[in-house]
Order: sequence, then C-alpha cells, then structure tokens
Amino acid sequence: MKTLAIVVPCYNEEETIHPFLEACQAVERQMANQLTFNYYFVNDGSKDRTLEVLRQVSKQFENVHYLSFSRNFGKEAGLLAGLEAAQGDYVTVMDADLQDPPELLIEMYAKIQEGYDVVGTRRADRKGEPPIRSLFAKAFYWLINKISDTEMVDGARDFRLMTRQVVDAILELKEVNR
Ligand code: UDP
Ligand code: MG
Repeated sequence: MKTLAIVVPCYNEEETIHPFLEACQAVERQMANQLTFNYYFVNDGSKDRTLEVLRQVSKQFENVHYLSFSRNFGKEAGLLAGLEAAQGDYVTVMDADLQDPPELLIEMYAKIQEGYDVVGTRRADRKGEPPIRSLFAKAFYWLINKISDTEMVDGARDFRLMTRQVVDAILELKEVNR
C-alpha cells in the first residue's frame, strides 16, 4: 500500500484543526483501498491553543503527527519543516482553514497515477472575496506578468500533490523560500 503525507502549517488554528481533520478523514476512508494517510501538522508558534489541540489529536489518532515551533516563523518555514518530517510515497501540502478542499485529493491522485510528478491547484474564481481585494489581485497579476519573465498564475495555491522524487528535489534547494 502506498502512503500519503499531508503537511499542514498551522498558525492560530485551534478552531479549524478538528473540522479539517474530519474532512480529511472522510477522504481517507474513500481512498482506503489505495493509500494510507499520515498527517504532519506544524504549529508555527501559535498564540492560541493550537498546540494543545495537536497534542490531543496526535494521541487520539496514530497517523497524526505534529511539530511545534517556539515562535512564529511564517508559513514557508512551517511548510519546509513539514516536508522534511514527512515520510511517504506522496506528499501534499494543505492549509488548515479548508480553503483547500480535501475531496480534490481523489482527482489529484488519479492524475498522479497517470504519470505526473506534481498536481497543483488554482482557484477558478474569486467568489466570496471582497470586490476590492479581487480588483487589486487582478491588477497585481496583470502587472507582475508584464514585468516578470516567470509567469505567475492568478489564483494558484500552495495546495499540491507531489511524488517523493519531487519533494526530495525541493528539499535539496538552498533558497530560503522554496
Ligand atoms: N500559517 C502559518 N504561519 C503563519 C501564517 C499562516 O503556518 O505565519 C498557516 C495557516 O495556519 C494556514 C496557512 O498557513 O494553514 C494559510 O494561512 P492563511 O489562511 O492565513 O493564508 P491565506 O488563506 O490568506 O493565504
Ligand atoms: Mg486561508
């Protein structure tokens, strides 16, 4: 059986960890014949009870693991520590606030099995966002794509599924922000 590591950076997520885990576990059950799930939560120096909640869920479920930073280092640092800790044939990185729908993992894994090394996600629209934020986001992507040679995709998220080979390659990079 192949294994999937789910890496989740957490900053002040005491209220979202339980709903997040429940949503993932529903997908875990649907995929039980294909994949074994392991969770790697990273507490990024939260000021609320995130660490207590993580301690509790890691006791309750043997496939839930956590790391904890002594202070806030930012999401990138949390992701990196999580990727370094994550064991498994495949690794996905997800936000704790359910803005990344865990149900998508089913389709993403199907794509990986077609032979892709990375399956990324993007928002197709900006529904539910304040119009002023959408306007500035649109302006930002228009401008950055004018001045940069590297295409930046509007709505692209960090939520992605990667093979072990890709994760190992990322971990070899020396940049501060991968
Ligand atoms: N996060 C983190 N450290 C930070 C800020 C955020 O680990 O300093 C985590 C946060 O808990 C969430 C993810 O990164 O799981 C995305 O954060 P947020 O939802 O605030 O970002 P946005 O949705 O605005 O991109
Ligand atoms: Mg968010």
